[in-house]
Amino acid sequence: MSDAVNFEALDVATEADVVIVGGGPGGLCAAVAAAEEGADTLLIERYGFLGGMATAGLVNPFMTWHAGGKPIIRGLFERILGRLDGYGGWVGPRQGSAFDAELLKFVADDLCADAGVRLRLHTSLAAVDAAEGRVRRIAILSKSGLQAVEGEVFVDGTGDGDLAAWAGADLEIGRDEDGLCQPMTLCFRMLGVDLDRIPSRAEIGELYDAAKERGEIDNPRENVLFFFTTHDREVHFNTTRIVKRDATDAEDMTEAELEARGQVRQMVRFLLSEVPGFEDAWLQEMAPQIGIRESRRVMGDCVLTTEDVLEARKFDDGIARGSYAVDIHNPAGTGTVIRRLPPGEAYDISYRCLTPRGIDNLLIAARCISSDHGAHSSLRVMPIVMAIGEAAGVAAHMALAGGDVRGVEVASLRERLVARGASIHGLSPED
Ligand SMILES: Cc1cc2nc3c(=O)[nH]c(=O)nc-3n(C[C@H](O)[C@H](O)[C@H](O)COP(=O)(O)OP(=O)(O)OC[C@H]3O[C@@H](n4cnc5c(N)ncnc54)[C@H](O)[C@@H]3O)c2cc1C
Repeated sequence: MSDAVNFEALDVATEADVVIVGGGPGGLCAAVAAAEEGADTLLIERYGFLGGMATAGLVNPFMTWHAGGKPIIRGLFERILGRLDGYGGWVGPRQGSAFDAELLKFVADDLCADAGVRLRLHTSLAAVDAAEGRVRRIAILSKSGLQAVEGEVFVDGTGDGDLAAWAGADLEIGRDEDGLCQPMTLCFRMLGVDLDRIPSRAEIGELYDAAKERGEIDNPRENVLFFFTTHDREVHFNTTRIVKRDATDAEDMTEAELEARGQVRQMVRFLLSEVPGFEDAWLQEMAPQIGIRESRRVMGDCVLTTEDVLEARKFDDGIARGSYAVDIHNPAGTGTVIRRLPPGEAYDISYRCLTPRGIDNLLIAARCISSDHGAHSSLRVMPIVMAIGEAAGVAAHMALAGGDVRGVEVASLRERLVARGASIHGLSPED
């Protein structure tokens, strides 16, 4: 990508110690942590708001952050929950771990403002100038045109690993046998639902199967996946399924959005006509963008494997933890495979999963850290990605001293994370 842009001809829009691209759960937490640690931090986001899949993808609820009844993800994630609670975005008739996506936008703004993160919204990464194992600068595209941004340490929070890919990092994509990624899903919400009258999940499944038999629904997903929200009379659907599309290909993304909206249209007709409780409901909202479960993975100094997850392995340089199952929605069609960790167990994520091989001043703070396809299906959930992001932000600040992410003293990083309230195996009081 760097060859496509003449960096010498670009105006330098700004510079920062730590430059983070992508303000989803990972990039947001990285930015807040880096700024709180004292780094001059710039966060670049293509949309007009932060939150990534949690807001732009309408993904809900937060998957587990506990193991054996104890929290294993704390720190910034807990503070986000607390701030959501303060806005009333964490309570509701059937709350579970559902949150209000609109209120999360306020929380993200507040956290950035309080930490002193400099924000650049409505701005996309356009190209990366990297040479001799370092990112020298990036090009950004916005209504202000094509501009350059300079920095000392760069953090990729794009989810898709755009920054790392365009810097020439080693990449993998999808499952080993055919490179297919988990399906995309356009989330949508129905409002005006009589929650007391809706049938059981099994009964809705039978109605759905019958509608598929009649040819009224064209969706490879095996059942209707829905969640209750923080609001009364509202149901959140995570049930469309678009397979065999590449999230890093704009034409595929275009087709995926259109196909998914077609599925939403069918589902809404089905719900209104077939499912008790939905008679007077309406389609409140489709997510601003189709949800991406999986795309590139950036290969780092350590690769988290499916076995590491399922056997709840620990690492001396663990900087975050997870307990969510290996959860693979069939990349090619029907079916979902869920493989759980032993009860009460959690796995560690090594700092070396955040350091892309061969690039000295880049960290990954998103679902695309170094892992295999199965491990990715576990670590991708929002609380885990937030913990990864917080660790990446603290590490980015520490890396400023020597300019090399591999020079970070990991024992100090782990201690610093614990001091910030994060939960680290072997160090945290609750462990
Ligand atoms: C359908 C679906 C259901 C899911 N269900 C759950 C669930 O129930 N619970 C749960 O906890 N997790 C769930 N997940 C997983 C979770 O939502 C994501 O894996 C998580 O949001 C990943 O966070 P991230 O920061 O890595 O990336 P993202 O959330 O994708 O954020 C990336 C950010 O970077 C920005 N960006 C991307 N490229 C560029 C660029 N080139 N320039 C500038 N900005 C850029 C994006 O706009 C976005 O804000 C689900 C995911 C999907 C898709």
